[in-house]
This record gives sequence, structure tokens and C-alpha cells, in this order.
Amino acid sequence: MDTKIVRLSEGNNDETALREAGEILKSGGLVAFPTETVYGLGGDALNPDSSKKIYAAKGRPSDNPLIVHLYRTEDLYRVAKEVPEEALKLAEAFWPGPLTMILPKSDLVPKETTGGLDTVAVRLPSHVGARKMIEYAGGFVAAPSANLSGKPSPTLAKYVIEDMQGRVDMILDDGEVGIGLESTIVDLTVDPPQVLRPGYITKEMLTEVLGRVENDATLFSVSGKTAPRAPGMKYRHYAPKGDLVIVRGESERVAAFVNEKLREARRAGEKTGVIAAQETSKLYDADVVKTIGKRRDEEVIAKRLYGILREFDDENVGKIFSESFGEESDEKGGLGQAIMNRLLKAAGHQVIEV
Ligand code: AMP
Ligand code: MG
Repeated sequence: MDTKIVRLSEGNNDETALREAGEILKSGGLVAFPTETVYGLGGDALNPDSSKKIYAAKGRPSDNPLIVHLYRTEDLYRVAKEVPEEALKLAEAFWPGPLTMILPKSDLVPKETTGGLDTVAVRLPSHVGARKMIEYAGGFVAAPSANLSGKPSPTLAKYVIEDMQGRVDMILDDGEVGIGLESTIVDLTVDPPQVLRPGYITKEMLTEVLGRVENDATLFSVSGKTAPRAPGMKYRHYAPKGDLVIVRGESERVAAFVNEKLREARRAGEKTGVIAAQETSKLYDADVVKTIGKRRDEEVIAKRLYGILREFDDENVGKIFSESFGEESDEKGGLGQAIMNRLLKAAGHQVIEV
């Protein structure tokens, strides 16, 4: 398949390109497009064949449901059988933006889009170009992240092109995305509402609007043995090709431990890598040391993480150690919960405390 690649201009007011993308989606084609979180791989959410095509293009298991993207809040009533008060409150507070809600699905949404579930995941992105495209596409665009299954979500157009060229009809290139981690997913079909995937909209922010909110208990499990409630969260998504281990503890001790392990790996003929904060990156003696940002600069860390994981793949690094970032505890939580959750998944939940 020929893939048309169009570079969007600043402000995303490229009417022609966005209309063309909308037409492609309407006629059952696929378009990879930027959002404020990561790039999405879009198809018409109401067309079962489009959803099947999305699974095929990604190589994604078909029990892993897609998120339906809207361009206006009132369309919630078309995709959801019931719209609880909580959904309206959250929409008011966080839409357009990086929040996905799980609601009972209406008959309009085919099961192919929801991975066979009776619930639907819905989001209204804030990216201006994305919203226009969704409107031109008829209002309902199903989109998972625009990566091949098993690779980190794409935060740069070049990663979308790497993964999706030849598999989709069009790629809208908007350079680097704003946030770099996928949307927060909150399940409103349970009481109290549960965070199934942490993201930029934090549990604290949700609690402020809703009162009581819980985390899915598996989000930060070190063993990773219990199945998370969002079907997609059980797959070893964000994984680099190399073996990644998180090392936690006081920074000098972490560095000493990691350097010892790096020496062993080198002796075994492995190319070695480290993910470190700016403050401590000089402490490591690896073939490749990636500085992810200042420890307190969580927005920078979030934005850099997936790119770094892909760079390790490109550089064929076999053994990777990462410092621990973010914070899984509710008190210190914030965006750190989302970072730690993704890092744990990338590491296949391997953590060493020193
Ligand atoms: P992606 O867009 O690639 O980040 O994947 C969508 C994520 O949303 C996956 O982790 C899905 O499991 C999750 N998801 C989508 N629909 C539902 C649903 N109805 N219930 C629970 N999780 C969902
Ligand atoms: Mg994904």
C-alpha cells in the first residue's frame, strides 16, 4: 500500500490535508495522526472492517479494545448507552484533553471496536488537527497508538513512519507530540471509579472532581502476575528489545551496583545501556548512557521515555539498567505514577532494590 505522508504546519490549519484524512477514514481507510498524548492509528470507529484493519496494521491481538475519539462532548450520548453524572463532570473538567472514560457501549459501536466488550473507551483529544480530522471523518475515530504491537507508543512522526509506512493510507506528521505518554483511562462502570491506566490527568485531579477514585491494584505490581483490568495493559507493550531492569535505592549505591552489572554484561559480550537522571548520569560507565531529564522535571521525563526505549533498539543495546523515576505512592503520585507504570511495563516488572 502507498502511504501518503503530509507534514502539518504550525497550528494545524491544513484544511486540505485534514479533509483528505477525513475522507480516507469515511471510506474505510486508515490514517495515523498526532494527538497531544502519542500518535494514533485511526479508523472509522463505527465500521467493523476499519477496526479489523487497525488490528491487522498493528499486529495487535483483537481482544485488545480501541479508544473511540470524538470531536465534541455531546457525541458521548451516541457511543454510550448511559452517560452518568460523573462522565459529564469529568468531561467538563478535562475535555478536550488526555482523559479516556470507560462507559457502557451503545449499539452504534460495533464489538470489533471494543474487542468484544460491552463497554466503550471514549476520549476527546485537545490536538486541534486531530479534532478537525475526527469531525471531517464523521465524528467517531477508533485509534490505538500508532506503533506496531509490542513497541513503545510513537512520540515522533519518524517512529510512526518506521512502523506504519506501507500499512496505512496516510500519515499526518506533526513532529513531536506534547505529552509523550498515553491518556489516563478511568473506568466509570464500577463504583468507586477506577484508574486503569495512569496518565497526565492524575488520580489526584480525578479525585478532586469525583470524590473517591481508586487505582487498579495491578498498576504498580512488581511481580506483574495479576491481570490488569484494561485488556491492553496485560501485554508487554512498551518493551525495548534489550533486557531492561530498574534499580532502586540511594543514588551512589544504585550507580555502584549498576556499574558492577555493566562490567559483567560487557564481559559477556553485551552492548550496555543506562537510563539516568541528569543529576546522576555521569556516574555510569555504560556503552550508551541516556539522560532522561532532571529528576524533578516529570513532564520532560514523560516525554522522553518512549523515544529513549526506541533509541536503545536502534542502537542494538542488549542489557539496559534504569534508575527509578516517578513515584508510585498516592501521596507523591502525580505524573510520576504514569512514568513508573510505563517503566515497570517496559522492564517486564523487573526491579532490584539496592
Ligand atoms: P492504546 O490506544 O494503544 O493505548 O490502547 C487502548 C487502551 O485502552 C488499551 O490498554 C485497552 O485495553 C484500553 N481499553 C480500551 N477500551 C477499553 C474498555 N472498554 N475497557 C477497558 N479498557 C479499555
Ligand atoms: Mg498502545
